[in-house]
Amino acid sequence: MKDPIRFAKEAASFSGEFSLAERERLRDELADDEGVVKGSVSYRVEGAMVGGRFALRVRFDANPTLICQRCLAPYVHPLHSEGVLFLARNEAELERWENIDPLLDAIVGQEPMDVLTLVEDEFLLSLPVVPRHEEDHCPRRDDVLGEH
Ligand SMILES: [Zn+2]
Repeated sequence: MKDPIRFAKEAASFSGEFSLAERERLRDELADDEGVVKGSVSYRVEGAMVGGRFALRVRFDANPTLICQRCLAPYVHPLHSEGVLFLARNEAELERWENIDPLLDAIVGQEPMDVLTLVEDEFLLSLPVVPRHEEDHCPRRDDVLGEH
């Protein structure tokens, strides 16, 4: 994306899919003991005006395999995320916005931006800090051992 603000102005969109194993940063984060990474991300990035500001809507669905920190078994952890990244026209505008709302997700939108890096960032932020099966969904220990 060469010009994110123009992308937002034109309400352009961009979508696609990649496998988690393809992306180095994600591979490092997700590899199991044997270095295997499973799962993929499908994403859509749309330019928009949100509350009078230029913005990118970033949406994705992913199905990474994580290691449950309770039973240490791998499991598929579905992720769905919809976020808005605001695009300021310059540093001064960004500063103004941040003074009003320090938690606003915003950057200066003048520089070329790599869409996949953006999706990666959102993906990493949405990973659970402590991955776990849902309550009472851990396989019994005998079942886990039985798989080997
Ligand atoms: Zn578990």
